[in-house]
Amino acid sequence: TKIEKVITKALITHELNKEEIIMLLEAEGKDKELLFQEADKLRKNNFGDEVHLRGIIEFSNYCSRECFYCGLRCQNHVVNRNRMTIDEIYEAAKEARNQGYMTIVLQSGEDSWYKVDILAELINKMKDNLDLAITMSVGEHSKNFYKILREAGADRYLLKHETSDKELFEKLRPGTTLQGRLNRLKDLRELGYQIGGGFMVGLPGQSIETLADDILLTKELDVEMAGIGPFIPHPETPLRGYPVGSVSMVLKVIAITRLLLPLTHLPATTALANLSPEGRFKALSCGANVIMPDLTPMIYKTNYEIYPKSSELLNFDNSFASWEKELLQHGRRVSKDYGHTPKPGFFA
Ligand code: SAM
Ligand code: SF4
Repeated sequence: TKIEKVITKALITHELNKEEIIMLLEAEGKDKELLFQEADKLRKNNFGDEVHLRGIIEFSNYCSRECFYCGLRCQNHVVNRNRMTIDEIYEAAKEARNQGYMTIVLQSGEDSWYKVDILAELINKMKDNLDLAITMSVGEHSKNFYKILREAGADRYLLKHETSDKELFEKLRPGTTLQGRLNRLKDLRELGYQIGGGFMVGLPGQSIETLADDILLTKELDVEMAGIGPFIPHPETPLRGYPVGSVSMVLKVIAITRLLLPLTHLPATTALANLSPEGRFKALSCGANVIMPDLTPMIYKTNYEIYPKSSELLNFDNSFASWEKELLQHGRRVSKDYGHTPKPGFFA
């Protein structure tokens, strides 16, 4: 069939044009199953059965931005704002390392309360004492800011492009531009970070063409990781009432991204798990190879409400041991190393 031809081409060249991507995005039934199977095989050939666990610490829900999709936007006056102290962040990372986590992701809103030197000192201390890979995800900053964190020891940076539609981007992220975001990604690239990109699936105003462009942009950026998850509306944002992103579409987008970026780490995102606990495991069987368990202490976790979090997700046992057991039941092993990118030439 036509779909088989497109998938075969993707498996050989890891290149597809927009039209071909749209065909795969529209696949249903047997075609969709074939897409998932081939993405799963490719994942297995390149990464084996190992799943990388990245423990995430959401250390501050203060944010000066007003992204239309996000519950942390500064105009949300309903949410309780709080910040973890530097010592609390360090202790949470230490506890994670003791359990077996080898990567810690520090994420927050754009919160200028944490001065760059303080963050650098924290990263430095974590690198010296905890033997961890560190990923930062604290939004858009100057190249100098990124440089200081990189020199302090940060290994990776997560900054999703969110949507490849320029107009939609500017509408949903007032005061910022897609080009500005891409410039930040270029800065991060030049500083030698392993880059985490990605985007949301199901944003209001997004079309199937946009999604194809999102996949193509991710390919062009050649990111080391791509976080792809459903949009989930938050009641205290302008996008309240819009439908949630489709789980099936998210899975197709992950599978296609796997075909085009065979060596890129793809998480089965928390947003997906929030919609359907099974969704996360389905993602692991159609191309994904990473899980990002939330290790934020409970009070902070509850208030870090990007989107409404299900109580199931909030109360999930995210200990390293529990994930080892859970993944074993799904036929997968937990990786015990840092899980740096396997892309050739990255580590000189
Ligand atoms: N402030 C940083 C930034 O924006 O890059 C990091 C934290 S931000 C909360 C992390 C990610 O949450 C964003 O990249 C965005 O894709 C995602 N996000 C925000 N609101 C969302 C929503 N309503 N549904 C799904 N994902 C959402
Ligand atoms: Fe702030 Fe990030 Fe949420 Fe935008 S997505 S409001 S920058 S936390």
